[in-house]
Amino acid sequence: MRKIIVAGNWKMNKTRTETEKFFKELLPLVEGKTVEMVIAAPFTNLETAIRETKGSNIKIAAQNMNPKENGAYTGEVSPLMLKDLGVEYVLVGHSERREYYKESNEFINEKVCSAIDHGLKPILCFGETLEQRESNITEKVVEEQLREGLKGVCEKGILNVVLAYEPVWAIGTGKTATFEQAQEVHAFIRKLLTEMYNEEIANEITIQYGGSMKPENALELMSQNDIDGGLIGGAALEPASFAKLVEAGSSI
Ligand code: PEP
Repeated sequence: MRKIIVAGNWKMNKTRTETEKFFKELLPLVEGKTVEMVIAAPFTNLETAIRETKGSNIKIAAQNMNPKENGAYTGEVSPLMLKDLGVEYVLVGHSERREYYKESNEFINEKVCSAIDHGLKPILCFGETLEQRESNITEKVVEEQLREGLKGVCEKGILNVVLAYEPVWAIGTGKTATFEQAQEVHAFIRKLLTEMYNEEIANEITIQYGGSMKPENALELMSQNDIDGGLIGGAALEPASFAKLVEAGSSI
């Protein structure tokens, strides 16, 4: 059985004090939940987040990573530094990084491979823009992002990767893909993984949906055959709201 993962992406939000407060409120709300819970916090809050979640079943993710171990890369953070802190997951290829920082599929692929090599689990994000959807090239775009993002990732390595399909037009816009639209792309991704690897592996890989997921639509989306949880931005910033998303993921 593949894992359902409910992950929050805080983006550039919250101070350390706010991080402490969030987890103090969240922990009692999600105690005993068996679904995998992940919070992707800003670099400055990772240590606090790890300390506050110690002994709980909440895992902490970084929102980005440089593929290199060290060197003259001012402002960057390496996989060794993340591992040293106790980080387990790392977001790679989020559409905001692809768009604002011009990250290419090639660079994203370097990060995926480096994360795996260093024992971190990459959450590889990908998805089409509105223009691409309207031009009927969603599958082509998704296939290219996946084939290039996963280049050189072997059968053993892929089992440490989480995929997050996030249509760009649905991120932070309040516009969610309908469950039919999301399931259609997720089924396509599963089929593609069967071609790239094999059926057994394709059935093992968690494919999250992301894009304006909230407590009101989470259950419907997460109940689809090929949707294995969510990557959530805005609705993951408040403990009560994140707990409701966890509740939805737990009830599947
Ligand atoms: C995201 O940041 O990955 C995301 C899906 O954001 P939102 O839920 O706010 O659309």
